[in-house]
Amino acid sequence: MMHRRRFLAASVATAAMFARVPHARSTTFDLVIKGGRVVDPSVSLDAVRDIAISGGRITAVEANIAGDAAETIDATGKIVTAGLIDIHTHAGRSKEGPPMLLQDGVTGWVDAGSGGADNIDQVAAVARGAPQIGRALVNIARSGVTADGELKDLNAANVDLARGAVLRNRDVVVGVKARLSNNVAGANDLEALRRAQEVAAPLGMPVMIHIGQSYSPLRAILPLLKRGDIVTHMYAPAPNGILDDQGRLLPDVTEARRRGVLFDFGNGVLDHFSWDSLERATRQGFWPDTFSTDWNTQSRTTGVVDFPNVMSKFLLLEMPLMQVIACATVNAARVFPAFDNRGTLNVGAPADVAILELREGMFEFLDNYKGTRSGRQRLFPVASVLAGKRTPARA
Ligand SMILES: [Zn+2]
Repeated sequence: MMHRRRFLAASVATAAMFARVPHARSTTFDLVIKGGRVVDPSVSLDAVRDIAISGGRITAVEANIAGDAAETIDATGKIVTAGLIDIHTHAGRSKEGPPMLLQDGVTGWVDAGSGGADNIDQVAAVARGAPQIGRALVNIARSGVTADGELKDLNAANVDLARGAVLRNRDVVVGVKARLSNNVAGANDLEALRRAQEVAAPLGMPVMIHIGQSYSPLRAILPLLKRGDIVTHMYAPAPNGILDDQGRLLPDVTEARRRGVLFDFGNGVLDHFSWDSLERATRQGFWPDTFSTDWNTQSRTTGVVDFPNVMSKFLLLEMPLMQVIACATVNAARVFPAFDNRGTLNVGAPADVAILELREGMFEFLDNYKGTRSGRQRLFPVASVLAGKRTPARA
């Protein structure tokens, strides 16, 4: 008996020493996601694959991965993507927000201006305590978002206070937000944006502006943006949206995109997009770089519902699935350096994964004016994997 055991041990050691082909290794993974349709625009992959995960990282993306796994998820018939990244949310308002987003497949988020210098520390604390990676843009107005318009008094846009807010939260704050509509800023829009740049530019950070129904025309606003800055609510209707009176895309808008300004969907609830402006702009070839929800904890009962629902609005407009996933993953990751090596299922990347189901049927989608469109497909969240660990979707 002893002899036989010794013999076995010796032959295992010998086999290991001479092992050169991968399948001779006896590998144990923490998690394998089996048989899903893996859509990863970062490497132009759309195919049925298994994904192996160990130590919180992607270790293999291959057809039929052999080897043991502590846990297996059967993703047959499902779509498997990198975890979704939502760059315009208000998830930092309360600690309940981030776990709700995780149930929707969102493994990275940015709170876009809920907090200003006076209250960004609370937003930053929510971001630090979130299960997934959360970041924040500091509102140039010291109060953060307010219902009666945080930039009506230009004194609220205090450069020194905003800079101080960034510097004491540099681990979390990744840019500056300025809401420029007339009911937020009145005639202060251009000066508020100049002050936002005065904070952001020397720190190498982007500014995100919220457009639509502004006092000043985009022709005056867009030249104040630098490469890497973000325009959210890109399909906000007139006055002062991206279309002229005849519904033509303004040349200033294509010029801004050409020099590296990014355009984000920003679904929202009120006055941020109409089907008419969305359809007119996309017919002229003007599609988003990124999607985002403008999410808050009440969004499930509005036209937002969840990030996969917002993505589905572009399937309805016949944007290819690969491009839809790109706008919610790799493109979003590229906007902020904090998301470097996320938004991808590449080997070595953090194992943040969204498992979605593309259901066929009749689904109704809402704009911000109670306008509806019916589509035959909708993406639903099924499960999320965060740092290699499965988290269930909402019931
Ligand atoms: Zn917002």
